[in-house]
Amino acid sequence: MVDRKLSPNFKLSEFTDSQTAARRGIDNTPDAESLRNLQRLARTLEDVRVVLGDVPIRISSGYRSAELNRAVGGAKNSAHTRGLAVDFTAPAFGSVLATAKAVAKSGVAFDQIIHEYSQWVHLAIPAEDAPPRGELLSIAKGTGYQPGLKNLA
Ligand SMILES: [Zn+2]
Repeated sequence: MVDRKLSPNFKLSEFTDSQTAARRGIDNTPDAESLRNLQRLARTLEDVRVVLGDVPIRISSGYRSAELNRAVGGAKNSAHTRGLAVDFTAPAFGSVLATAKAVAKSGVAFDQIIHEYSQWVHLAIPAEDAPPRGELLSIAKGTGYQPGLKNLA
């Protein structure tokens, strides 16, 4: 797959690279609609980056083809499969929880922010023409999704 910039600080490969996909030979090339969503997602991440003080953002999972999503045990109909969600950390800013909270209160429009296992922030944008729900959730091992951003473990 030919790499390209989606926005000044983010390349497509940052959203599509996956060790699982590489290991299992899974094609993780986004379709046209997912690619458009990834471009919007990258622009949102640029805003997030500014909010966090221009620190580097480390993406652990972005786009997942249906096959890759199954392989990693992602939720069915996960926003990742449509290029609408990204899992990231910003260690230079602070903890995962602090990062999630800073983005949540920043005014950046989002559909969902999930503080996941105290390991990464799941940030989802709404589908095109859908309103942003601004939903905040946390999850830890064995807790299921809980409302709000907090440490559950
Ligand atoms: Zn996620």
